[in-house]
Amino acid sequence: MSQPGMPAPGGAPADLQAQNGAASASGSPYTNGPLQNALMSSQVSVSQGYNFQPPGSYSHLIPAKTLNPASGQSNYGGSQGSGQTLNRPPVASNPATPLLHSGPVPRMPLPASQNPAATPMPSGSFLPGANLPPPSNWQYNYPSTGSQTNHCPRASSQPPVSGNTSLTTNHQYVSSGDPSLQNSFLKSATPQLTNKNPKMSRSVGYSYPSLPPGYQNTTPPSATGMPPSSLNYPSGPQAFTQTPLGANHLTASMGGLSLHPEGLRVVNLLQERSMLPSTPLQPPVPNLHEDIQKLNCNPELFRCTLTSIPQTQALLNKAKLPLGLLLHPFKDLVQLPVVTSSTIVRCRSCRTYINPFVSFLDQRRWKCNLCYRINDVPEEFMYNPLTRVYGEPHRRPEVQNATIEFMAPSEYMLRPPQPPVYLFVFDVSHNAVETGYLNSVCQSLLDNLDLLPGNTRTKIGFITFDSTIHFYSLQEGLSQPQMLIVSDIEDVFIPMPENLLVNLNESKELVQDLLKTLPQMFTKTLETQSALGPALQAAFKLMSPTGGRMSVFQTQLPTLGVGSLKPREEPNQRSSAKEIHLTPSTDFYKKLALDCSGQQVAVDLFLLSGQYSDLASLGCISRYSAGSVYYYPSYHHQHNPVQVQKLHKELQRYLTRKIGFEAVMRIRCTKGLSIHTFHGNFFVRSTDLLSLPNVNPDAGYAVQMSVEESLTDTQLVSFQSALLYTSSKGERRIRVHTLCLPVVSTLNEVFLGADVQAISGLLANMAVDRSMTASLSDARDALVNAVIDSLSAYRSSVLSNQQPGLMVPFSLRLFPLFVLALLKQKSFQTGTNARLDERIFAMFQVKNQPLVYLMLTTHPSLYRVDNLSDEGALSISDRTVPQPPVLQLSVEKLSRDGAFLMDAGSVLMLWVGKNCAQNFLSQVLGVQNYASIPQPMTDLPELDTPESARTIAFISWLRDQRPFFPILYVIRDESPLKANFLQNMVEDRTESALSYYEFLLHIQQQVNK
Ligand SMILES: [Zn+2]
Repeated sequence: MSQPGMPAPGGAPADLQAQNGAASASGSPYTNGPLQNALMSSQVSVSQGYNFQPPGSYSHLIPAKTLNPASGQSNYGGSQGSGQTLNRPPVASNPATPLLHSGPVPRMPLPASQNPAATPMPSGSFLPGANLPPPSNWQYNYPSTGSQTNHCPRASSQPPVSGNTSLTTNHQYVSSGDPSLQNSFLKSATPQLTNKNPKMSRSVGYSYPSLPPGYQNTTPPSATGMPPSSLNYPSGPQAFTQTPLGANHLTASMGGLSLHPEGLRVVNLLQERSMLPSTPLQPPVPNLHEDIQKLNCNPELFRCTLTSIPQTQALLNKAKLPLGLLLHPFKDLVQLPVVTSSTIVRCRSCRTYINPFVSFLDQRRWKCNLCYRINDVPEEFMYNPLTRVYGEPHRRPEVQNATIEFMAPSEYMLRPPQPPVYLFVFDVSHNAVETGYLNSVCQSLLDNLDLLPGNTRTKIGFITFDSTIHFYSLQEGLSQPQMLIVSDIEDVFIPMPENLLVNLNESKELVQDLLKTLPQMFTKTLETQSALGPALQAAFKLMSPTGGRMSVFQTQLPTLGVGSLKPREEPNQRSSAKEIHLTPSTDFYKKLALDCSGQQVAVDLFLLSGQYSDLASLGCISRYSAGSVYYYPSYHHQHNPVQVQKLHKELQRYLTRKIGFEAVMRIRCTKGLSIHTFHGNFFVRSTDLLSLPNVNPDAGYAVQMSVEESLTDTQLVSFQSALLYTSSKGERRIRVHTLCLPVVSTLNEVFLGADVQAISGLLANMAVDRSMTASLSDARDALVNAVIDSLSAYRSSVLSNQQPGLMVPFSLRLFPLFVLALLKQKSFQTGTNARLDERIFAMFQVKNQPLVYLMLTTHPSLYRVDNLSDEGALSISDRTVPQPPVLQLSVEKLSRDGAFLMDAGSVLMLWVGKNCAQNFLSQVLGVQNYASIPQPMTDLPELDTPESARTIAFISWLRDQRPFFPILYVIRDESPLKANFLQNMVEDRTESALSYYEFLLHIQQQVNK
């Protein structure tokens, strides 16, 4: 079945489709996407035994058939909460997926933060296995179906070489290079490791002299509003020495002895209660030989919950810690090596891109670090364009950079790269006009029209709607924009489709005309209805031929036509954690999102509404189309000026940031590991291929993994993400990140390498799913049990002497604190504070934000700022940015004679004590005394004083590092906003939540049971 308006992908060459193993899916434009032939080997897809979609339109992908009529709520397909579990894709062709949703979710009224008695496990990806942990825990090992191992098939023409193939001949290549390197190899690993498999070594000891490569480092155009990261970690040219990747890659102290001694410490949290470092918490460094580690991927881009991978699932199960990856794959980078080469070297078997962690058997052969197949080095690769030397493939930039971008040749396209297409869909009902948002948005668009990423092919269009749908013809040559009204919202059609999306360059004046007049056009409207659903259908039809980005602005609950919604929030039931509507009330938005995804359209939703608007339902339009959700509660152009400022700043970033179109992302990992659940905004197209019609630099993703096959024969595993996209300039590009981690055999080593932030971030993602598939209280219990279980495992299996107290490995010293912070986070908190849409928005943020921002909204940073000094300050482009110490989140840390800034991610709160020093009041706030601090105060005056300069420099620096705009509130002690400030004091008790110390006692009780 062919898709209307989808000429190109459907027209894929037959051989591509035939290769797919899902050849029958021809015509379905996103069965495997434009990447099909490129990123995924045909054998892999076959071997995965995955149920591909039957031929036909993707409407069958929508799990309408898995809709459970028995369920009172709209538990369609089950994917709305379930992170798109891999081997239960929302594909109706696999009806045997009762796990998805087997009816109304069992719920039990559970006391908050109490370990409950048995709770029937809802369906979902955390189904308990046979050896049942306490109920409502997460069982991290995933029920294996055997279908999702992500390694390469064995049925390749040339049998892949397994890890323990004797490669003794390799040793002849161990060069006599750098003696210091040699020495470090020689002292090498513990006997336990080397003896384990003496035959096995994938090492090649190249130690060629290092030459600084001089390949091109391009600086991607930086979007305004968000300077690219200053990190230069994986990006700059690096001196390179190919190091042996084998038994002797680890430092002498395999048992973690090479860690800083502090890292080996066992901490009694009941005695040491202030474990929060005064500087930002750094991710743990994998216990690898420094020559490997220095090539490793930057943890800001690619990070694992366990930096030491347990060698078996049994060991992982013992640790009771989740195994998963957190990714920020399209992050803005200062420097990014870009390779233009006729040959992109990839493993013939598993299609892994050549990377720093492969090994060269000799100059002509390299061994894949994911599937161990030995591949030939292509002739072109022998020449290093950087050094202009022939015969040093190991020095190519591809082998020296864990993060790299390739210009993709034509075989990575199923259709010519499409032009950038931007369609704006505006709510112009009475309610919308009241908020005054159109003025701001149109002005922002006018200001940034020339900065929209694109080229001479860029297209733009506009739709407005209330009870009817309005199109705007912007055909070049018209004297003014022409409005076309379609009032039939039952069967929407597109009038003059060819003139509605126009070339921006050619029709710029008409576009500017429209943007100038649009805010005035509806000021007298009395139309209160909102036909959002039909408007989205129209927009989808308009964009189908090309794909692109749809930006939807909505200010109320849609009331007319398809997708209309009814209010569901009952404010007096907000406190009840079990009966709240976290799941969509209709599958309309998800279905439409999947349609959009199929035609390479992503939908970004801007919700500007003071009333309940059922974000749980509306948000699906973005979630499954790989869009983003922005939420401005109580937006009003006069009454809420800070929201106006926030929208203005965020639109500037939104409109000008980098964008990738027609994107797909695949994550591969070393044979034996398996990826099973994905978190983020996308649609899972096939086992491990994420469909991302748009990709933006501010989106984060997470995946869960399991150990499918024992890793006892290997000492290193690697993970590789490959993001194939069309740039706004029309180039096809592939951004590749590769992370390498050691494999360990003891529980202690697993614990020593735990990354507590990544673990907390992954647990938060899992808890959002659990909230939707089961209940909020179930999710909260699972969070608490995650701490109890892992610390119990540590106590019973690692600690030899059973000391009293709450003993934790140093790596997990902040685990209870972060989980307590999650319980108090807007997504998961109890109590009457969280409005439903705000809670849903917080959950969307958990799923879609990079880890660094998620941690900040969960556990804010608190600083004292009335005594900022230049000591330890950063110097950034002539500005001195103070770096005050981070304080614990407790009122004990406050004092009335000071001023304290809390950075909670999207909001900054500056609390000023009653007796705050006069100096701060006059030199920073510009007021005579405490009483004259205006309320509300949302801006600091720029005064000509060093104190003012320091404070403003610090606040600007915090803001500059994130893609959204945190509002600043200056709070006096008697301000109503003080409650918000105190709400974030994670270590203190609140009306509905334990203090940190009480929480520790609770954990200790459970652990010592
Ligand atoms: Zn391979």
